Amino acid sequence: MAVLLTPGKINLFLDVTSRRADGYHDIETLFLPIPSLSDRIELSPSTGPGLSLECASVGVPCDERNLAWRAAEAYFRLAGQPLPSLHIRIDKNLPVAGGMGGGSSDAAAVLRLLNQQHGLLSDADLRGIALAIGADVPFFLDPRPACATGVGEELRPIAKSGKLFLVFAFSAFPIPAAWAYKNRMGHLRGAPRPLSGMLAALAEGDGEAVAAHVFNGLAPAIRHKFPLLERVRRDLIAGGCLAAEVSGSGPTVFGIAPDAAAAEACRAVLIQTGWPTSMTVTAEV
Ligand code: ATP
Repeated sequence: MAVLLTPGKINLFLDVTSRRADGYHDIETLFLPIPSLSDRIELSPSTGPGLSLECASVGVPCDERNLAWRAAEAYFRLAGQPLPSLHIRIDKNLPVAGGMGGGSSDAAAVLRLLNQQHGLLSDADLRGIALAIGADVPFFLDPRPACATGVGEELRPIAKSGKLFLVFAFSAFPIPAAWAYKNRMGHLRGAPRPLSGMLAALAEGDGEAVAAHVFNGLAPAIRHKFPLLERVRRDLIAGGCLAAEVSGSGPTVFGIAPDAAAAEACRAVLIQTGWPTSMTVTAEV
């Protein structure tokens, strides 16, 4: 049996730079892994032939539509090996279709575990499979704070990142990423402050400056369509956060608090309003 805890992510910065001929979008983004919010992936021999998958969470398919299943199939296909008898168990902590990259993280975890066990593929092979499964999957092969361009696959880990105190507010409804990309044009916001400013602020561990650079080009359309998310964003700020924004394509909203006590106090305020929340401190690198 092999087990891996695989984290979620937020995009502290997400600028959609162009639409590509293949329908995907070029982006400039800053990924931050959130290890305190992780799915648990377990691989074990299956009782029957081929693949099986179990996951108790609502909205997660347990067949070939699951990104973790597709990762396992692609791994053995590229290695030129028959599918072994393999059972994948997924215990989800990450919100489903929540903008924290849960499915992508699960897929990358399966690739990592299989290559630890079998060692059949190179890192470049794994990156190729990951990208074919989804734009966020390559980041989760080695989840550490990183800038990314292309569709999110041209990754540059960042040299230094101080602690951030984050508060999360979760919502139960899913927002398909494709919807967010398609509808963003009607709600364009001014140009973001340059990513270099965010990187300098992060290196200093200056939460206030990081907060001033938070940007998500998908967020205006999402908040317009789901006013509840604008309300929770305001609640996070009223609760003491320096900034709050939708993570990726939502609906998870994160807030940046000035310190651990403020993050805890903000979390308590949100819990009183009935909002499911969690607090985390991101690690320094
Ligand atoms: P991103 O931030 O990359 O847009 P997300 O966190 O918003 O991703 P996911 O949790 O990856 O979204 O789920 C998107 C959809 O993918 C779900 O609605 C679900 O049907 C499907 N899916 C496939 N595999 C998984 C998985 N392992 N975990 C969760 N959802 C999965």
